[in-house]
Amino acid sequence: MTEAFARIDIVRYHDYVIKVKSQSIYPATKSNMSKLYLCHRCFDYFSQRSTYTNHISTCTLETPGHVIYHKHNERIHRIDGHFYKDYVQRLCLFGKLFIDTKTVFFDVEYFDFFLLTEAGIPVAFFSREKRNVDNFNLACIITFPPFQSKQYGRLLIECSYALSHLDGYIGTPERPLSQLGQRSYLSFWRDTLVRSLPLNPTNTMWSLSEWSKNTGLRQQDIVFTLKHSNLLADRVITMTDENDMNQQILFRVNELLDKPARPFRFDIDCLLV
Ligand SMILES: [Zn+2]
Repeated sequence: MTEAFARIDIVRYHDYVIKVKSQSIYPATKSNMSKLYLCHRCFDYFSQRSTYTNHISTCTLETPGHVIYHKHNERIHRIDGHFYKDYVQRLCLFGKLFIDTKTVFFDVEYFDFFLLTEAGIPVAFFSREKRNVDNFNLACIITFPPFQSKQYGRLLIECSYALSHLDGYIGTPERPLSQLGQRSYLSFWRDTLVRSLPLNPTNTMWSLSEWSKNTGLRQQDIVFTLKHSNLLADRVITMTDENDMNQQILFRVNELLDKPARPFRFDIDCLLV
């Protein structure tokens, strides 16, 4: 009995050989598929090096969609899953090799994809459902392993918030978040909160709704960040009603300021929308 999906151990992608972290749903073949060869232009996949080499020498596909961000050699392409279904399905198949949590394979037409390229090479992407459900500004985010030390995840998270801000809503990512995703978001949310504080704050009582409006962060995400950073003061006014506009929160402001915010990774002036 043959397995429906190939068991992949490593992939060749552009100049890199990458160990996979999770299994995707590449169809199994009679060939040995434990090593997969990926075209970085069209994301087509091959089990044989010779077939891959032949393909790479002739594939001229350029990254689809339109560029919404351009700074130096970094570009973000917005790709409509409806118009580029095959391309984004192959992109998702590849991305699933590096993430444990869910991603989409088949309903891609309902999503927009924001693909970051470095000198023309795709390095990371996030998806966002076109229907604005519960103000989710990001469905799934993946940075390919060779590029994970360059803060590309942070760049895309900042981009997702810039886009939801432009669209006039307070966004949040879909759950569940991967461990890496949660760490990235906590860092981003914390930095955003730090930036919002005056240099010499005179008190530590803040209206949650005002803070949310000023930072573009959802109220629950603010509280989550303070809790996970141990910054909530011992005495906290009970949050009885999430919609209570006068609700206030008490936190240790000095400790929040102890660690300065990292500089923005995303340059808002390079956004082309
Ligand atoms: Zn190709």
